[in-house]
Amino acid sequence: MIISVASGKGGTGKTLVATSLALSLSDDYKLQLLDCDVEEPNANILVHVAINKSQLVYIPIPKVDEAKCTYCGKCGEVCAYNAIAVVKEKVLVFPELCHGCGACSYLCPESAISEEGREMGVVERGDSGNLELIQGKINVGEAMAPPVIREVKKYIDPANIVIIDVPPGTSCPVVEAVKGSDFCLLVTEPTPFGLNDLALAVEVVKKLGIPCGVVINRVGVGNQEVEQYCHREKIPILLRIPLDRNIGMLYSQGIPLIEGVPRWREEFLRLFQDIKDIIAAGWAAK
Ligand code: SF4
Ligand code: SF4
Repeated sequence: MIISVASGKGGTGKTLVATSLALSLSDDYKLQLLDCDVEEPNANILVHVAINKSQLVYIPIPKVDEAKCTYCGKCGEVCAYNAIAVVKEKVLVFPELCHGCGACSYLCPESAISEEGREMGVVERGDSGNLELIQGKINVGEAMAPPVIREVKKYIDPANIVIIDVPPGTSCPVVEAVKGSDFCLLVTEPTPFGLNDLALAVEVVKKLGIPCGVVINRVGVGNQEVEQYCHREKIPILLRIPLDRNIGMLYSQGIPLIEGVPRWREEFLRLFQDIKDIIAAGWAAK
């Protein structure tokens, strides 16, 4: 079972929820926690796994053999990302725009394009008891997260329970991280900004056809509009976490919520049971 934990915006408590769920379940289940928030992976601040394996991530970018090139311009025409262009008698490659799709080398009529790897980031792994952590880290200044997220997800073992900490937002990295999930938990806060970003995230998971439920964090900080929206849209609210200074203090000290306040373990086990029930019932947001 793959459960992704997403939020329309950063700072809502997504990692708090993902790590609390993972740690609650790892007593009884073999579990993989995938930190796909590759610009700022911080799940391990809370789960404290010793990283002992790492693998660099590369994408293939074109390398043009000017001796074979006839400057026909075909490569520039087929590239959807403007990452290669022919200017007079010169082929220009813009590596930071290249998605490594391979179309230009495949379609070059002169077989003048080979590929070379460009380092994008790293995937790191480690385990502790039943819990395996797999985290991606994108290189500083790198714009494209999906290749690193794809590499992280290659380690998914479907025999395990898999929890994915998704990047914030609703753009390509989110889709890359969430797709293939059996369920998506959407973490939000009860504020107008929280509602706005939740509604965008709901649209994404609807399009992907993935059932979802909401966790409202910092209950007490804002208004009732998130609750009203969920009722209107028939999206289950599966957990409410109150605005509590102690929870923030634990997080800032790297202490998992379920260790600092053990009663939350039961809450997250109940959350997992609710998710299983929703999946079994075949529910999805329409
Ligand atoms: S498609 Fe091949 S031959 Fe044509 S311009 Fe590009 S590299 Fe040169
Ligand atoms: S590999 Fe794809 S994205 Fe990169 S330059 Fe070639 S066609 Fe464009």
